Amino acid sequence: MVADKGKESHQHDVLKSTQTVIHLALDKLGYPEEVFELLKEPVRMLTVKIPVRMDDGKVKVFTGYRAQHNDAVGPTKGGIRFHPNVTEKEVKALSIWMSLKCGIVDLPYGGGKGGIICDPRDMSFRELERLSRGYVRAISQIVGPAKDIPAPDVFTNSQIMAWMMDEYSRIDEYNSPGFITGKPLVLGGSHGRETATAKGVTICIREAAKKKGIDLEGARVVVQGFGNAGSFLAKFMHDAGAKIIGISDAYGGLHDENGLDIDYLLDRRDSFGTVTKLFNDTISNEELLELDCDILVPAAIENQITEENAHNIRAGIVVEAANGPTTLEATKILTERGILLVPDVLASSGGVTVSYFEWVQNNQGYYWTEEEVEEKLEKILVNSFQNVYDTAQTRRVDMRLAAYMVGVRKMAEACRFRGWI
Ligand code: GLU
Repeated sequence: MVADKGKESHQHDVLKSTQTVIHLALDKLGYPEEVFELLKEPVRMLTVKIPVRMDDGKVKVFTGYRAQHNDAVGPTKGGIRFHPNVTEKEVKALSIWMSLKCGIVDLPYGGGKGGIICDPRDMSFRELERLSRGYVRAISQIVGPAKDIPAPDVFTNSQIMAWMMDEYSRIDEYNSPGFITGKPLVLGGSHGRETATAKGVTICIREAAKKKGIDLEGARVVVQGFGNAGSFLAKFMHDAGAKIIGISDAYGGLHDENGLDIDYLLDRRDSFGTVTKLFNDTISNEELLELDCDILVPAAIENQITEENAHNIRAGIVVEAANGPTTLEATKILTERGILLVPDVLASSGGVTVSYFEWVQNNQGYYWTEEEVEEKLEKILVNSFQNVYDTAQTRRVDMRLAAYMVGVRKMAEACRFRGWI
């Protein structure tokens, strides 16, 4: 099962490997050691206990986190994850990745991230509402439209954002749509936010395919994960003429060399991206990753491509729609094998980019059309891809290190101008 691979041990690694690449990037840029000392961990990390009255009348106490990596550039920004495998270290790493994403697409934010250890698949609607509101009460002092702006992440959605926004507005005694992004349209959400991560990944795939001379028309694509990013991405790639020959969820994968019926699968998936349970003829997630294809998109969770399977990946391009799906050892193997790897901090930055648009619209009280959102997203992602690609070429580094170099630079400069280092 994808969702349960590893737990604490591999999540320790995601923080450590992020720190390793940050260190390398700062070295390449010529920054002294104290810059690394400041950026290797979040500047603020809050752990909270959230008591929730469950439907059976008993109280269950949940643990939640909010990490704020660095607020030199501006308020911190990043999603909230509801998942049984959430750990403090994972949330820290995820907040660092948010800082890098914001740096790469040049948003006026630092990175933040939240998480609650829970399994929303086993909770009722009302229990989820109480948990969401309880979390906001617990972290309310350190968040806000000019401090730290949450958003959706794994297993959270616009309904959860709506409850959180309502709770914050009550505490703040003010209607505060800019407190959180990824809201429903009627509550100040933005057109295009729901599909933004997938749109961004699609743009990166298109740009990477151009570099590798791969024609998207008829290209064979495998997508691991059928949540918010994976499902919409499969749809966009299908609409662009590609053949989606494999998809998966936490329980297994589907494979069809003639192309899967993506519209049918989208229609039948549940809100947690589960769809394979409806089929008898499934393959494992491990098998799915090793399918012969042109483009492989890991869109699930961390540590899926490791030194154990990197030699068996048979794609020309790997585009990371999930956060942290490829380990550092695997990144090295894929790069040496001539596979173009588009790293998470670049490929999945479409979500936070449109979150930024949502926050700007909330602050202005003036709302944009879907075309305006898409046009602006397209421009930002094409430029960011080119910038990272050029950095990789001119500095002779892999795309991940290049992305970290681009992502960390503005943050380090902002810290320096503020006199922190
Ligand atoms: N959770 C998303 C991410 O990891 C989006 C964050 C946001 O919109 O602030 O990039």
